[in-house]
Amino acid sequence: MVVFLAALYGGLTMLQEKNVFPAPVAEQVQVLLDTTGDAARKAGAGLRSVWRNSKAALNEQLRKFGRSLSGSGQEKQNIPVDGELLVDYIDVGQGDCTLIRQGDSAMLFDCGPDDKGTYLQNYLKKLGITRLDYVIGSHPDEDHIGSMDVILEKFDCDTIFMSDYVKNTKTYNHVTEALKYRNYSAMTPKTGSEWSLGDAQFTVLGPVQAHEDANDNSIAIRLTYGSTSFLFTGDAEEAEENDLLSWGNDLKSDVYQAGHHGSSDASSASFLRKVQPSFTVISCGIDNDYGHPHKKTLQRLLAAESQILRTDLSGTIRFRSDGTNLSYEAEW
Ligand SMILES: [Zn+2]
Repeated sequence: MVVFLAALYGGLTMLQEKNVFPAPVAEQVQVLLDTTGDAARKAGAGLRSVWRNSKAALNEQLRKFGRSLSGSGQEKQNIPVDGELLVDYIDVGQGDCTLIRQGDSAMLFDCGPDDKGTYLQNYLKKLGITRLDYVIGSHPDEDHIGSMDVILEKFDCDTIFMSDYVKNTKTYNHVTEALKYRNYSAMTPKTGSEWSLGDAQFTVLGPVQAHEDANDNSIAIRLTYGSTSFLFTGDAEEAEENDLLSWGNDLKSDVYQAGHHGSSDASSASFLRKVQPSFTVISCGIDNDYGHPHKKTLQRLLAAESQILRTDLSGTIRFRSDGTNLSYEAEW
């Protein structure tokens, strides 16, 4: 680890002395960031402290170029909206849980794994949330609906969306019991249907057709606020991505949550060509058993010139949109 850090700093100092950070800066930096993550992952412990230190060093470099790792604005056409849209990619370890807020409205896209129920309950309560306009379980895997039972029991939930893919697991049964206990019913939204969240709107893009694999039956949505946009595809892999492509809906999104936690079976090159994400958020756990995010995915994202953010390295990542400009802040 010490050797790695010394090598990293040595390399950065050399770059600084020679002033050889060529344009586009972001792309170069991203390569360094990914190398840092992978090298640190191999080194095992202390991943986040390595990340923090290297981030500080890189920020120093970037200041020369008038850029910063934290916070990045994008000029867009001006469509007025009331207030802000906040999108929290909550660090739930290996799993997905995203809180989306606009005005008085709030929605959860996925609910994280089984052991994060109390954490999520406190997270929402601290923000003063008692009611959720939408709760979406993209598909019935434990890392997406594990804590959905707690959410349904502890919060007033208006509309509950679940994939119609049924799984006979303990986790799934817990959700079914929670629905019964609250006298709620979950529905599978029609593909192509449009919904409002405050002044934000979202369209259900998938699943377009049934597939054998649970992942490819993930509910996928594209959310827009003013001229800014966010894409969520759950754990959709290439089969569902191809469905979304052939269905012909607008996929172009400023922020894309990498499908299937950055697995190589998702985020295909042709899919990314249509999405053209300025930012990609990968939600995965430190040192997870699946090796997410896979190197191939990172390479495809870099080729697509998308700035990569990872919850395993940065903790919870919050995006803000005023309808025109986007910025983000990260926990670490
Ligand atoms: Zn998953």
